Amino acid sequence: MKVVVLGTGYRKSVTNGKSGNSLEYRDRNDSNYLLKIGDKNYVFDLGMDAFKHALKYTDMDSSKIDGAFFTHTHNDHTAGLYDLTHDAIANYVDGIRPEKGFEIYSSKMIRNLISLVHGPMYNCSPAEEFTEELFEKSTNFVDVAEEKNKEFLIGEISCDKIDKTSLEEINKSRENDSTFLVKPYRMDHGDERVVVYGFTFTSLNGYTVGFTADTRYCENVENLVSKSDYIFIDMARSGKNEYGKIYTHMNYEDIVGLAERYPKKIFIPIHTSDPTYNMTKELAKNFNNILAVEDDDVLEFSENGLSLNRQENEIDKENERI
Ligand SMILES: [Zn+2]
Ligand SMILES: [Zn+2]
Repeated sequence: MKVVVLGTGYRKSVTNGKSGNSLEYRDRNDSNYLLKIGDKNYVFDLGMDAFKHALKYTDMDSSKIDGAFFTHTHNDHTAGLYDLTHDAIANYVDGIRPEKGFEIYSSKMIRNLISLVHGPMYNCSPAEEFTEELFEKSTNFVDVAEEKNKEFLIGEISCDKIDKTSLEEINKSRENDSTFLVKPYRMDHGDERVVVYGFTFTSLNGYTVGFTADTRYCENVENLVSKSDYIFIDMARSGKNEYGKIYTHMNYEDIVGLAERYPKKIFIPIHTSDPTYNMTKELAKNFNNILAVEDDDVLEFSENGLSLNRQENEIDKENERI
């Protein structure tokens, strides 16, 4: 499995690049990813500008995106949702992807958001009118909260749930890394009205990559971490706020605690503010199980370990010359 880090930040402002707190400036993208599984591509959250950014890794062809995961409805994770679903429906209507439903894995809140953003904009839709029926035809929406979908397969063998016995049989026959068992975890983003899911992706070759999504420390963070070998983990904060209230994101101390308690697991702090982004580099120097990533890093996971491919971008080259 390859994970393209489309961004490491959060709540990018449209006008001036400020993140949520006006004291924190940055020019990084929102924490979104492109997951490459076999020959399939899945976006994992889409914030501001993330759809176009993701397309750079799929030959600027939206029909090469096979599905999407949405952790929750906040804007830094869903600003690109309209463009994504617009193209998914357009590709279906135009016969570019007629054979199989575009896959979306998320909660009812995201399902409602899709209806909401398309509803008033029907004149812009690829069909004459966005209808629920057209959406149902073109898209396979999986509500991860539903009991029957607690665990599901994606990739080469996708979506339809299978029982444990047949999974073991498939496992034995697998040689390539193209099918993953996905498990959702309900997270705690500080307000129970904001439904957030983290996910683990378990390769049938044996390793597991986890994503906490936006959350403060909670029991399911512990459950997700204990099941994963590699964890993309929210580290938006550096401590408690001035009122002693715990933030709705994990902080530096939470990550250090987990890294100390699980020395064999690799932690990848993301969704960082500028101060905590700089801290990831210090953490990576002091902990050999913490990895600091940058926007556009490509991480390749396999049963043999993890390799990081950092593309030297043109701007860096320019700076070096100066
Ligand atoms: Zn959030
Ligand atoms: Zn966020």
